[in-house]
Amino acid sequence: MPCTTYATLEKRKQWKSYGMWSKKYPEKHKIATKKYREKVKYEAYCVYSNPPRCKKCGINDLDVLAIDHINNDGHERRKDFKSHSSFYKNITKYKPNDLQLLCMNCNYKKHRNGGIL
Ligand SMILES: [Zn+2]
Repeated sequence: MPCTTYATLEKRKQWKSYGMWSKKYPEKHKIATKKYREKVKYEAYCVYSNPPRCKKCGINDLDVLAIDHINNDGHERRKDFKSHSSFYKNITKYKPNDLQLLCMNCNYKKHRNGGIL
């Protein structure tokens, strides 16, 4: 049996097992999922600033930081991803240089200023 097929079968077994676990312990699953999403997002933020902070004002509160599309094409680009996690994982993997880390205030001010930071 080729390695890839074996690996796929192993992965399916793991997912089946995880699916059973998550149904048995829905609260633990919810917490684990939240932790995983936060980890993926944090790793993506670190691509642009480590530790993560707003490029404009320097605030480092993770609750108000967000990825900004420098060319203001975020609406179109987000359609390429089925979830926030897949978007963040793509950032960590490919490190696109047309994104930046801004806080919500600076992002809004950029929007109010015609897309110019
Ligand atoms: Zn800011």
